[in-house]
Amino acid sequence: MPYSSTARTQYGNQKLPMAIQSNISGLTLFRSKFLSGKNNIQISPSRDSKGYSVGRQQLQNGITIFNITVPHWETYKLPLNDRDKYRIYRNGCWHESIHCKYTPDEVYTFGAKPSARPGDENALNEPLAHDMINIIEDRRIEDLGVKEWKGSKRERLFSNAYAYTRRMKVDEFFNLYLKQHYDFAKGEYIFPPNDYTREKIIRTRIANMRHEAFLQRFLVKRIKGHENLPHAELRIIDKEARMVEKQLEKIEPIRDNLKERHRIFTVLANLSMKVIRDLGLQFYTPQLTKVGESSWDQSFDSTTVNPGDEEKTRAGIDDYFDEMMSIEVVCADCGAHYSKKLGVRE
Ligand SMILES: [Zn+2]
Repeated sequence: MPYSSTARTQYGNQKLPMAIQSNISGLTLFRSKFLSGKNNIQISPSRDSKGYSVGRQQLQNGITIFNITVPHWETYKLPLNDRDKYRIYRNGCWHESIHCKYTPDEVYTFGAKPSARPGDENALNEPLAHDMINIIEDRRIEDLGVKEWKGSKRERLFSNAYAYTRRMKVDEFFNLYLKQHYDFAKGEYIFPPNDYTREKIIRTRIANMRHEAFLQRFLVKRIKGHENLPHAELRIIDKEARMVEKQLEKIEPIRDNLKERHRIFTVLANLSMKVIRDLGLQFYTPQLTKVGESSWDQSFDSTTVNPGDEEKTRAGIDDYFDEMMSIEVVCADCGAHYSKKLGVRE
């Protein structure tokens, strides 16, 4: 067929993003079905999506599908080059596909109105409980996912490294709001006597700080600025994270059936409430807007990219990898301490 001017326009600058989106969506659909082992999957690219989410949805003909919402490629802006942006995108879709495979139904609406559907706004009764179960479930399903798909380990690490660059500096928050209320010698907070309003404000800030520290420790395995935080605080967070990790190891699914899924949900729900209680998080309300969201998703928000952001983000990712891959070694001959690099970053 002769090469017409219309064909040129179609695949010229104007229509190109749509062609790319169709390719990406097609590929994502194929991959999600493959990874989840389910056929009832739908991929919905959204121009105003902040990140990645999945929910069960009943169609008019009564069939239930998993609807995976992903950012629209054209409007998805990250402070990364296109190759790295695609790695984040691909990992986001991997994560949601693994949810489809393993997440019990009740998890999607925990802490929300019983009739709530994923993506619903203003339907969260208990945003903190909803947030915590999603944080714990995210770690659980990804641990299962990397066991099943060995190649995804590196991609998960890359996404974690990216998220790490986007998270709050916990030490800066502590220095700004809590240091003046902390007794370093005793390793505890001091509250002004008989001033309950002030005490509540301090408790809210402690909860805010610990919520973020727990999230980072649990999902990224590092806390930003840990070297400047009180040891007693780090011990509390680490102990809690290890307790949850241990419990998660015990509930690895043996059979995939309704009873088993309900049992897993019960463990997850109890663990979420226990973390909230143990760390005193009940004073803090995370800024969640939709059902199915957790504070972790905010790491993957599309944002306006400013000049220099790309370099800064890439440098942050490299730092994360360097820290994760260098270990302290004692020389067998002379007993001197030195650090050794493990593997290479990519
Ligand atoms: Zn998730």
